[in-house]
Amino acid sequence: MHMVMIGGSDAGISAALRARELDPRAEVTVVLQDAYPNFSICGIPYYVSSEVAHWRNLAHRTISDLEAAGMRLRLDTVARRIDVPGRKLLISTADGGEELLSYDKLVIGTGAVPVRPPIGGLAGAGALGLRDGVHLLHSMGDTFAVMRTLEQADPASAVIVGGGYVGLEMADALTVRGLAVTQMEQLPEVLPTVDPELGALVHAELAARGVEVLAATTVQAISKAVPGRGGRLQVQASAADGSLVTRVADMVLVVVGVRPETTLAAGAGATLGVRGAIAVDPGMRTGLPDVYAAGDCVITHHRLLGVTYLPLGTTAHKQGRVAGENAVGGNRAYAGSLGTQVVKIFAQAAARTGLRDHEARAAGFDPVTVGSAADDHKAYYPGSHRIAMRVTGDRATGRLLGLQLFGHKNAEIAKRIDIAATAIFHAMTVDAVSDLDLSYTPPLGSPWDAVQMGAQAWTRISTWD
Ligand SMILES: Cc1cc2nc3c(=O)[nH]c(=O)nc-3n(C[C@H](O)[C@H](O)[C@H](O)COP(=O)(O)OP(=O)(O)OC[C@H]3O[C@@H](n4cnc5c(N)ncnc54)[C@H](O)[C@@H]3O)c2cc1C
Repeated sequence: MHMVMIGGSDAGISAALRARELDPRAEVTVVLQDAYPNFSICGIPYYVSSEVAHWRNLAHRTISDLEAAGMRLRLDTVARRIDVPGRKLLISTADGGEELLSYDKLVIGTGAVPVRPPIGGLAGAGALGLRDGVHLLHSMGDTFAVMRTLEQADPASAVIVGGGYVGLEMADALTVRGLAVTQMEQLPEVLPTVDPELGALVHAELAARGVEVLAATTVQAISKAVPGRGGRLQVQASAADGSLVTRVADMVLVVVGVRPETTLAAGAGATLGVRGAIAVDPGMRTGLPDVYAAGDCVITHHRLLGVTYLPLGTTAHKQGRVAGENAVGGNRAYAGSLGTQVVKIFAQAAARTGLRDHEARAAGFDPVTVGSAADDHKAYYPGSHRIAMRVTGDRATGRLLGLQLFGHKNAEIAKRIDIAATAIFHAMTVDAVSDLDLSYTPPLGSPWDAVQMGAQAWTRISTWD
């Protein structure tokens, strides 16, 4: 049995590892268009900030580890066309040649590419690029380009277009490197994946660290600045009231989200679904014979929403594992995402799982969302922090639908959101969260964990309502 994985990131490598684990006789070839298999692109901001000393440290596994696990790696190799009936993959090899690879099973893990928004100066003749200090960020190649700008041009200032989680992590990273950062977000508040009440707390943390945050600001154009204006690039934007906002900076980072990379799959006749991502069943089957797909290139099965598109590393790993297992004859189903995510912004962290109020309403629930706050551990023990919470539950059934958290990075925000993710996964009510037997010692927690206090606040208020 010869399996071919296209893409050497989270989905492709997870599929390859699982296939080899279950069938050590399976021949596994991974085709990837760069030379950086199994790199943690989630860690890029921490290499840019210098907290991770060397880019090699971002590798989940080295090339030798992957080869020892039984994979044949085809680096700098681009998959061009899939011949589905003939079970062949046309590839362009590193030396510029072409080759046909036969496969018995194929896993497409082509991931996502950064969105290039319709901003003047980013496309067309005379478009600004890396040499001008204008960057997108997704791959290791993009990272090396950012580092070249940082090391060779020694920028003093940066504008970050986009206030989503990658934009926030990069605002943190570039500030740590000593740049003066302006963050522009077209929506009314940064981190628009959480409620504005928590987004405002993220905003305050950025501002406290010296980041100039311009929310409700839509970037219109990036151009070369007039020499002597204090930076080599000029960013023009419009504020919510229509007024013009102009900033001059030495570099610009455009991080406004991703779109699924589906050219190859679509060319082979795969059905596309939400946001143009490859439609797959929960077993990661594309519907094309012997062709599976996983990761940022596919639609996401969501436990509360049905089908959506939610590109995340955790999801890509799990979907890849399912694809690998099924490709060697298994029958595993991806259990579904809840969109659980967490981001560190300087000394704070924000997290969410499940649905926010408007998402739950759109999905047919009757949501109530209650904000509250509690200490991460007993306040009498030094170093306690308040955690801001927003619990969303269904009024009719009492079911927990979502939780959002904001608090100090040492306040176990990630693990606390995981309590809620586990509870939602198992369709628990908000009230039942209080029954969970959670751990307690004063330096680390409270007899009622903060999440349980948030649940109790929800139960009180939704009952009175
Ligand atoms: C800066 C940053 C921070 C992030 N932080 C987090 C985080 O904290 N938590 C989290 O859950 N997620 C995070 N993510 C998202 C996460 O990294 C992605 O969801 C995940 O990497 C997706 O994995 P993937 O394998 O599906 O796709 P990708 O990582 O996009 O990889 C696809 C691979 O396929 C290759 N490829 C594409 N087409 C071809 C072709 N035709 N031939 C050969 N090779 C091809 C590409 O070169 C690429 O290497 C972050 C992303 C970024 C950019």
